[in-house]
Amino acid sequence: MPHHAPLTNHHADGTDCPAEHKHTTSGKPLHPDCPGRAYTQAICSCGDWQMKSPSKGYVNESRRRHLASHPKPHPTGPEVLRSLLHLNAR
Ligand SMILES: [Zn+2]
Ligand SMILES: [Zn+2]
Repeated sequence: MPHHAPLTNHHADGTDCPAEHKHTTSGKPLHPDCPGRAYTQAICSCGDWQMKSPSKGYVNESRRRHLASHPKPHPTGPEVLRSLLHLNAR
């Protein structure tokens, strides 16, 4: 299972700032209930990593870097097959 670390946006009090809270390009909230997007957070499904920053770009970059640090899932299937073929060849 590959890990994933979805980006989520939050208000200053820690509550979610959902996708329907639209913002202007300069980051001003357009939704009447939205106090403004305070920070972006990403939590990896591995449970060992999370990142929180007012800069969405920074979180996204760190997230990609972290996800890239996870080893690729082991191709156990073909590996087992290869050793079986090896045994047969002997
Ligand atoms: Zn909001
Ligand atoms: Zn992770």
